[in-house]
Amino acid sequence: MKNAELNKRLNVEAIEIPGNLAAINIDENGIITGWNRYAEKMFGFSVNEAIGKSIGIILPHELKDEKKKMIDEIRKEQINHYETVRKTKWGNKLFVAVTNSAEKDEDGKVTGLLQLANNITDKKLAEEKQAILAAIVNSSDDAIVSKTLDGIITSWNPAAIRMFGYTEKEAIGQHISIIIPPERIEEETVIINKLRSDEKMDHFETVRVAKDGTRINVSLTVSPIKNKNGDIIGASKVARDITIRKEAEKQRQLYTERLQELNQYKDEFMVMASHELKTPLTVILANLQILQLKMADNPDVSFINKSVKQVAKLSTLISNLLDVSKVQAGHLQLNPVTFDLSALIKEIKNNLQATAPGNHIIYHAPEEKLMVNADRERIDQVLTNLLGNAIKYSVKPSGIKVEAHRKEGHVVVSIEDKGIGIPENDLENIFNRFYRVKGLPGSYSGSGIGLYIASEIIKRHNGRIWVKSKLGEGSVFYFSIAAVEQ
Ligand code: ADP
Repeated sequence: MKNAELNKRLNVEAIEIPGNLAAINIDENGIITGWNRYAEKMFGFSVNEAIGKSIGIILPHELKDEKKKMIDEIRKEQINHYETVRKTKWGNKLFVAVTNSAEKDEDGKVTGLLQLANNITDKKLAEEKQAILAAIVNSSDDAIVSKTLDGIITSWNPAAIRMFGYTEKEAIGQHISIIIPPERIEEETVIINKLRSDEKMDHFETVRVAKDGTRINVSLTVSPIKNKNGDIIGASKVARDITIRKEAEKQRQLYTERLQELNQYKDEFMVMASHELKTPLTVILANLQILQLKMADNPDVSFINKSVKQVAKLSTLISNLLDVSKVQAGHLQLNPVTFDLSALIKEIKNNLQATAPGNHIIYHAPEEKLMVNADRERIDQVLTNLLGNAIKYSVKPSGIKVEAHRKEGHVVVSIEDKGIGIPENDLENIFNRFYRVKGLPGSYSGSGIGLYIASEIIKRHNGRIWVKSKLGEGSVFYFSIAAVEQ
């Protein structure tokens, strides 16, 4: 199309178009006959690309019927304003406000339509965003309130109505102090001061008061509101009702206290019951041992021997239970004396060797004494337990190696067996109360108390206890306590 002809057809140029309006001419068939530079800018099609094409090029697929509507308008010579959607050359959607008017030739015959389109996309999106934000505020379970820097309430959402009992009308224009309990009124000054210095207050737990005087536990988040210039002009307050949570916390506290109380009863009962059991048991054991001696030559002495063994086992179990209760109650008393740990090891080795002859306990005592200041009986208990376990968890009677030496001001003792070993996953829990490796064959009976007590005893001595073990290969238990300088 030649330029002159084009200009003629671009009759829109002849009209004074206000602002940044796109001006488009279409004929009776919906073909574009005029396209100004704002139309080029708005829709992306150049004059050459648009002229001669159907108006359909800027109509989104779902609005293609609008072409028919426009042609009808031409025929009816209507002027129409409405908001609609257009499509750019790149497929983006634009919100536009359009004004359509009929165009006539010199004889007054309608020849087409002039459509002026104003891009209102930004305004529409802002409105939409505003509507979404308003919907969020309205549907929130948290009370959302805004106020001026003087504390005058400027907005009040439905949750605020529910929480504080004031209607929007009653609250707006009032001072925020209507919901602040008198004894906390100075909080407002602190809040305002923080706001003025542009500080946000996150989850600040306090109490507010409703219209009927009910106190409400709330978690407040207060943020400054700024105008376009960045000046702080007020504050938004989000208040979450935490009464239920506070109530739950109180309940939990009560349960914890009750549990501690019951636990105390249980510990006291365990101590009492263990004591009561121990006394008759000691008498039974003593009598059995007398009988054992008296009947040494009697073939039926084996029955007594078995009974002595079982009663001794029972006695150890009760002592252990008593110790657990003592540890729990923090009553594990120590009576420290200075003694040679190496001599104690020898003593225990000989005793155990006598009772479990198949197990060979090897202990090469160092030449020097290994003096420690500790509770001899309790350390005896630790060693007996570790050696007892080494014997118990050996597949068949085998050599158990005990070593003790001085190292950096400590005496370090190790007890090594070639037994069943401990799975890696269990190692970190092995010293916990009542912990036993799962799936042990029934022949390995036990209560999971021994190592717990041993570790507590060593800890009370400010010492350290640890283990290295490999499943199927054996274990080495270690402990160390401070040495006494000789
Ligand atoms: P108990 O032997 O009465 O079960 P302990 O507290 O003495 O209780 O030991 C806890 C657990 O540690 C045992 O059940 C066992 O699984 C494991 N254990 C302890 N010593 C050894 C060892 N020397 N070899 C293998 N496993 C052991």
